[in-house]
Order: sequence, then structure tokens, then C-alpha cells
Amino acid sequence: MRPDSNLKNHMRDLAIFACSDHNTRGRAYPEDRPIYRNQYQRDRDRIIHSAAFRRLEYKTQVFVNHEGDLFRTRLTHSLEVAQIARSIARELKLHEDLAEAIALSHDLGHTPFGHAGQTALNQCMKAYGGFEHNQQSLRVVDKLETKYADFDGLNLMFETREGILKHCSAKAARQLGDVAQRFIDNTQPSLEAQLVDLSDETAYSNHDIDDGLRYGLIDFDDLLGIKLFRNQYDKVVDQYHMINKRRMIHEIIRRMVNVMVVDLIDTSRANITAANPQSLDGVRNQPKPLMSFSEEMTALILELKQFLRHNLYQHYRVHRMSRKAYDILTALFDAFINDTKILPPEAREQCLILQGESGDEGVARGVADYIAGMTDRYAIVEYERIFNPRQLSFVNLIP
Ligand code: MG
Repeated sequence: MRPDSNLKNHMRDLAIFACSDHNTRGRAYPEDRPIYRNQYQRDRDRIIHSAAFRRLEYKTQVFVNHEGDLFRTRLTHSLEVAQIARSIARELKLHEDLAEAIALSHDLGHTPFGHAGQTALNQCMKAYGGFEHNQQSLRVVDKLETKYADFDGLNLMFETREGILKHCSAKAARQLGDVAQRFIDNTQPSLEAQLVDLSDETAYSNHDIDDGLRYGLIDFDDLLGIKLFRNQYDKVVDQYHMINKRRMIHEIIRRMVNVMVVDLIDTSRANITAANPQSLDGVRNQPKPLMSFSEEMTALILELKQFLRHNLYQHYRVHRMSRKAYDILTALFDAFINDTKILPPEAREQCLILQGESGDEGVARGVADYIAGMTDRYAIVEYERIFNPRQLSFVNLIP
């Protein structure tokens, strides 16, 4: 037998309630253990090598990718979430590789054009079971990546899949089976899953300020009315008398990320100490999540999020983008569902397979899978190919 030094080293640093190769519920399709990696490293690596992960680069977070090279995309957002999650996992002796795997895959199911895309596709799918990006992320890793010889999807570990499924209705949970059982039983996911969820919140609350300021959608002076921002602004101004705006913004935001992460670690550590779970099941059976911000920090974050909702996500320029995105995706959905012959062969084949399984609902699901998988720019090009009469040459119709 080969020495498994990596696994041993890793195990030594883990808390008794962390996920590990020893308490995992494993993979749906049994596989040999990796030789020099732990099981969650393998998951992380599979996610990075997936097509859905590469597409994140051209999917909108808040701003459409081609609006500027410096804005966050789903890819850079996911990397920031992973970085924050790893720091927290390491400090609390949780499984860093699992936290990273969940972070890198948590947004794989997002449609093009951010939340506007999700709203459009959900509306289109109303009669066919709806569309929810979180469940779509799970669908991507469970079914839609089709490059392994032995199974569909990436055959990820239970705990990675559980972490990807952040929310779920009871109705959907009954269909999804064991990975969603906690939404029926009212139990908790692993601490790694819990911490990624809060790392996600930490990442976007802060990088959306940065992007919003850069794009001129939010005003620096307005932000000074937000305590979380103001507190760090005061510290930066105290420390540096002459500093340009760009450095000032970065210094404030990096301190904001830091105070949120420190609060999250301190509060969660206290929660864990008080609850004293003796195993992973001890974490799962808690009445509420052990990972949390303090009450004070929760109130500060809420104030910031309300500010962002009002000033950034509801900005008329964001609405204009959302309007177009809604129209593009709705038009594509209607065109495909009314005539599946215009779908590229692979997508059409998938629709026919799903039709065999569940009729019209299957066809709709196949169309939704195809659209959800598109990047922003692919959706725009596909829309042009189908609806722009000037593109009536055969060459332009080739995908
Ligand atoms: Mg996210």
C-alpha cells in the first residue's frame, strides 16, 4: 500500500466535528480513493476542470462582463469566496479543501446575466417546475457535465453536494432525495457548508461596493452613512492623511472584509464551544447553524445590504441591463420550446432524452439547461443568430 502522507497530515489538523474522508457519506458512484489527494481535493480539482467552471468567467455577477475588465465576474467572485472560506476553515480546523470545493461550485448553476437571468428563466419554467440557480448548480455537478466514462456529472462527495444546495423548498427536497433531506428534517449542513454560505455574503457585500463605486452607480459620500463602511473609513483617515481615492476605497474594503471574517470566526468559535459537538452528526443535529456573525455584525451587514439593494441593485442602469437580459432569455426560451429543431444537436438530443423521461416538462428542462449554461456573450450571439434578419446567411447560423 502507498503511504498516504497527505491524508494523515490533514487529519491531524482537523477538528472532531469537521468533515473528513473518514466520516463522509461518500460518492453516489463508488470510486477508488485518490492516491495522493484527499477526497475533497479530488472534488475541488474536478470542479476546476469542468466546463461549467470555465464559463463562470463570462457570466455576470452584477455587471455584464463586457462592461469593463475590472468588474467581478462569477469566476472572480467564486475565487474570492474560496479565499475567504479557506481562511475561516483553517482557523477553525475545518476541512479547507471541502470549503474550497463548495465555494468554487456554489454558483455553477447561475444563468447568464445574473439575477435577471434567473428571474426570466424561472418565469419561463413556471409551468414546468420552475428554475432555481442553487438547484441548477447541483444539477450541473450531478448530471450536466458529461465527460466521465463511468457516470454523468462529476460524482462529487455527499458533503460537497450538500454544501452546493444552500436553499431548497420542501417540495423540491422530496424530489432531490438524501442530499436535500435536511430541509425536511430541519437539521444543519456541515460547518464547511455553513461557512461558505457566509463567505459568499462577505465577498459580495464588499466587492459590490468596490464595483459599484468604480462604475459610478453608488456615491462615496452616501456610503459614509453606512456604519460598517464609516467605521473603517475613520480608521483609514486617522492613519493616512494624504491618500488617493482608489487606495482609500481599497483600504476601507479590505478592512471591512477583515472585520467581518474576524467576527465570523470569533462568534462561530464561541457557538461551537458552547454547543460542544462531538462529531459531524453533533453539528447536523443542532437546532440552528453554529457558524454565524455576532448580532451586532448581523445588524451592520443588514444596513449595508439594504443600502446596496436600494442604491446599486435597484439602480436604473442595472434595471436597463436586467430588462434586456430578461427579453433575451425569454425570447430564446420561447423560440426553442416552440421548435426544438433550431437547437444545436447536442442540446436537442438532451431535450429528446428528457422528453422520453417526463414529456413536455422534460423538453422545457432541457431548454432551461441549455440556456442556463450559456455565458452572457453566448446568449447575446445566440439571440442575434436567431432573431436578427441581417444574420440570414448560413455561415452566421453555424454555432
Ligand atoms: Mg455567490
